[in-house]
Amino acid sequence: MANIFTKIIAREIPAAILYEDDQALAFRDIHPAAPFHALVVPKREVVNLGVMAEADAALVGHLLWVCRKVAADAGHTDFRVVSNSGAAAGQSVFHLHFHVMAGREFHWPPG
Ligand code: AMP
Repeated sequence: MANIFTKIIAREIPAAILYEDDQALAFRDIHPAAPFHALVVPKREVVNLGVMAEADAALVGHLLWVCRKVAADAGHTDFRVVSNSGAAAGQSVFHLHFHVMAGREFHWPPG
């Protein structure tokens, strides 16, 4: 099923790409919620953490490494990683993604 992130992965629509490898793509969020706001997505379609399979665990671990890498490459040692899983949790694009945000203070609990 095509979604906006599969179109970005296929280069059918543009994005500000920060990192790419055979499993993952990272690009800037189009509506940044922090001075640095990237999205890290798998190239393979996984809907969200709520429905991931155990077989996806290594991929998800790799995506977290990519989160750390894009933050570090942008000069950030302190950052927040968020993955909204399901509509009630705030997910609007149903292709697994990690938000990586940095460059301001964050508060807890999030809204
Ligand atoms: P979520 O609400 O957790 O599913 O996050 C989806 C995110 O995708 C939002 O932060 C949007 O701003 C972002 N987004 C939607 N369309 C694009 C796009 N074309 N390029 C970059 N980010 C996008």
